[in-house]
Amino acid sequence: MKHIHLLFFLQLSFFSLSAQQEYTKYFTDDKLRYDYTITGDHQVTRIQDMNFYREHNWSGSKLNLIDTFQYGELLLEVFDSSTSKLIYSKGYSSLYKEWQTTDEAILSERTFSESVIAPFPKHSIRIKLSERGFDMRFKEIHTTYINPTSREIEEIEPFEFVRSHHILVNGPVSSKVDIVFVSEGYTSSEEEFFFDDVKKFSDILFNWDPYHNYRNAFNIYGVFVASEDKGADIPQDSLWLNTALNAGFNTFGSDRYLTTNDICRVRDVVAGIPYDQICILVNSDKYGGGGIYNFYTIFSTGNALSEFLFHHEFGHGFASLADEYFSSIVPYNNMVNLNCEPYQPNITILINFDRKWKSMIADTVPIPTPYSQAYTDVIGLFEGAAYTSKGVYRPCYDCSMKSKINNAFCPVCKIAIEQMILFYYTSE
Ligand SMILES: [Zn+2]
Repeated sequence: MKHIHLLFFLQLSFFSLSAQQEYTKYFTDDKLRYDYTITGDHQVTRIQDMNFYREHNWSGSKLNLIDTFQYGELLLEVFDSSTSKLIYSKGYSSLYKEWQTTDEAILSERTFSESVIAPFPKHSIRIKLSERGFDMRFKEIHTTYINPTSREIEEIEPFEFVRSHHILVNGPVSSKVDIVFVSEGYTSSEEEFFFDDVKKFSDILFNWDPYHNYRNAFNIYGVFVASEDKGADIPQDSLWLNTALNAGFNTFGSDRYLTTNDICRVRDVVAGIPYDQICILVNSDKYGGGGIYNFYTIFSTGNALSEFLFHHEFGHGFASLADEYFSSIVPYNNMVNLNCEPYQPNITILINFDRKWKSMIADTVPIPTPYSQAYTDVIGLFEGAAYTSKGVYRPCYDCSMKSKINNAFCPVCKIAIEQMILFYYTSE
């Protein structure tokens, strides 16, 4: 038995070594930031390049360079120009892709700014951006070439108006999940208060499963940027504030939907900080938040339900979990195509259920599972999820992706989060 373990260990080490060599063959330890505009309506999307930047501190895994999850509405792929070999990829979603499903997108066009990061290349690369069609397949929408020696690539350092602190340091950035917490709507006299909030929400993160068992897998940073005003815009009350990241409630007409459409400004503020995930803390007691996969997580910190808000939104932002509720009014149309299996790990329309949580359901649990008190503690197949009452199913009676009265994730969401942690995390 020991020999088998040793062999396994040697194979694993060989894999790590060759993966690491692959990284150093193609990339430096810096970050490439690529900003672009994305324009379109409910059917058509087009992209135009804006700016390229070089920053310090690439913090993603150096072993897992290719995205094996294929979650999200958009896909970034980086190819080595001379060999056409795929050397990096990352799925993500964006505010534009959500806007595309609103009524406004049927009537008009709109432009958003977006920004993606990748390890900084040593040689010329081709970047391909794809969007997910209604049939769930990715289709190419844009290609651009980057020569790393080009003078058009601007080098940026952390800005002087920003103050950053390490909150939790567990090891090298390339083997941990690095989270940066950024301030929004905290005034210059509230810096200490902000860093107290960062510590508070770091503790809250590890209070919940599965994060509880993975404290060693994370590094956490706090970045403070002062705002003139406290809080965030509330358009329905005609409240327009001067804040660092231009965040506001009432996104797409939804009172509680708190976002910023200024992702480039957010990236500026965290320039040079190692991060895999951005969490924006909004200094407001008004209930609201948003989580966009591999884009950012944002939530108000002063509400009685802020603990729930953080975990729920980070579930979207970090692990691509879908909303499991279906009775609230949302501004989106046709979020789930009832003919194609959704990519999110915690919902199904039963087309590809074998690849989801089917094997976790005990033989004694009826399928579909009745929504009754008898089944509150089992994994099953409960109808209603992702804003759709019929034809879309969730794993459990309740979960923090379904309701705010339940401060815990269901077992299926826990596994999805755990898998994402393990994508970034390598234990020493
Ligand atoms: Zn769940």
